[in-house]
Amino acid sequence: MARGLLATVLVGIVSGWQAGSMAGPAAVTLITADQWGSLPAPEASYRSRPHAQVTGLTVHHQGETWSEGADVASYLRRLQQWSRRERAWVDVPYHYIVAPDGTVYAGRDTAWAGDSNTVYDTTGQLQVMLLGNFEEQRPTAAQLQATARLLASLMTAHGLSPDRIVAHRHHTTQTVCPGIHLMSVFEDLRQTAAALRRVPSDR
Ligand SMILES: [Zn+2]
Repeated sequence: MARGLLATVLVGIVSGWQAGSMAGPAAVTLITADQWGSLPAPEASYRSRPHAQVTGLTVHHQGETWSEGADVASYLRRLQQWSRRERAWVDVPYHYIVAPDGTVYAGRDTAWAGDSNTVYDTTGQLQVMLLGNFEEQRPTAAQLQATARLLASLMTAHGLSPDRIVAHRHHTTQTVCPGIHLMSVFEDLRQTAAALRRVPSDR
């Protein structure tokens, strides 16, 4: 039920590569990978690994200053090229990318674990990244609201409790990611997401 470039979906019911059609309290606007111009991975060996079960959600910031009005699709295409050429990753390292206007972009196929420049086990973690550098910038209200809805949808889809939402720097001391201005509202984000969950089937 894609309408132009935008499809309202319940993220998690759909894979990272397909638009779905379910809307509801925790619906988000999702741009599919095809829609931002993602290219299939060429035949090559990558360091990335598939993973079977989602056990947690990890929140990141981009770590680079985001200029208002910059083109998200072209940024993602550049990130994809860099990930494959420079890092030998199968795709962009994140499964979902949240723009300052609240639009969510599908990234890496959720069948693959994420990748990181820091050392921690990404297996089972869906990687959610907010555009911007939150050491210097603040996430927008629309961005935080969309992130909460996304996290709620993912918790619902994978039967996760709120304590399975963590920040990158909870995994490792090698980074300040997702930045001080996101960490300052992180507990609010977690609680908002928890309140938006559709099915309280924790595990
Ligand atoms: Zn990070």
